[in-house]
Amino acid sequence: MLFGMALGITPPWEVTEVAFSKELNRLDITIDFQRGATFTCPVCGASAPAYDSTEKEWRHLNFFQYEAYLHARVPRVKCPNEACGVKQVQVPWARAGSGFTLLFEALVMTMVRDMPVRVMARLFAVTDTRLWRVINAYVEMARAKEDYSGVRRVGMDETSVKRGHDYVTFFFDLDGKKLLFGTEGNDNQTVKEFVADLKQHGGDPEKITDAAIDMSKAFIKGVKEQLPNAETTFDPFHVIKSMNDALAKIRAEEARLFPEILKKSRYLFLKNPENLSPEEQERLDVIIASQNLKSTEAYLHKLNLQNVYFAESRQEAETLLNCWHREADTSSISLIRKMAKTIKEHWAGILSHFDSKLSTGFLEGINSLIQAAKARARGYRNPQNLISMAYIIAGKLKFKSLHNVPI
Ligand SMILES: [Zn+2]
Repeated sequence: MLFGMALGITPPWEVTEVAFSKELNRLDITIDFQRGATFTCPVCGASAPAYDSTEKEWRHLNFFQYEAYLHARVPRVKCPNEACGVKQVQVPWARAGSGFTLLFEALVMTMVRDMPVRVMARLFAVTDTRLWRVINAYVEMARAKEDYSGVRRVGMDETSVKRGHDYVTFFFDLDGKKLLFGTEGNDNQTVKEFVADLKQHGGDPEKITDAAIDMSKAFIKGVKEQLPNAETTFDPFHVIKSMNDALAKIRAEEARLFPEILKKSRYLFLKNPENLSPEEQERLDVIIASQNLKSTEAYLHKLNLQNVYFAESRQEAETLLNCWHREADTSSISLIRKMAKTIKEHWAGILSHFDSKLSTGFLEGINSLIQAAKARARGYRNPQNLISMAYIIAGKLKFKSLHNVPI
């Protein structure tokens, strides 16, 4: 499809000159319009002759190793409808305001799925800022056509743009398994912005029946205020992550006391047991058997909490969770007692997972794609670029060129 798209040079436009410079490594194609040609007013569509014109240049697809450029004088028309005034016409080979041809942009949008923008920028010898402008524009155009009227169950998740700061929050359609919206920040305001965007796309916040979130106060508040009919579920992934964070802290503190035993053991404790190699399992067994470690106790609390999620009914889950809570609440480790308190405070939302059976497993998959893209590009220059990339990776958007040809 991509290369089947015509350059769009049709009368009154014609190629008048082709200049090739080996020294400058470039090919320059000049296009002009025929004398007495008329153009369409971009406002009302009426026909009008050229009034004046300005010289413009567009970067086109490379011609073998040579950089190719189109040149044309772009006319303005003085529309017979006086309300329109004098307006610049739309050329058929480029978007208004873009310094690239549609074909070049289509190539960028095809390559962006697999290639870091920085690498692409080097390849084409253009700044990555210019490429990001193209990418953001196409994402915006594709999103404008999205229909969210059928969205019922949503999940939200935050990620840091750089390690530890500049957060971005993503909202997902859990049934359509795609990214709906991304915005800067990780406070309850993000939910407000999501709802505004949802409405813009024909969605109705009152029809949202379920929201899967982490246990952050901001999201809880946001859902309560913005999604009045949504049942909150604290999804298993985030509950276990919170437990793992506590475990990691406990182990790190203890590793300072017993470095010879706990050296480089972090991943042994954090990995799921079924993912440990026989050697790793053996090392962990030795640590656990060696002496009465807090890390070992914390690890057992984690395994027991994970075990709750194997329950086959809400009732069974509640029994297991009660057991877990009784043990954790009387632990000698303050971080474990704190975790017990957190679980108690989010009790209903944790158990509602067993009613709604909300699966946010695919979020992990999407997140790892986003993290991989992030790593590949060695950090995005700004959060908006990360959000655009996430839409491309996880938004299931239909990208189309101006000629309505799928990219
Ligand atoms: Zn007009």
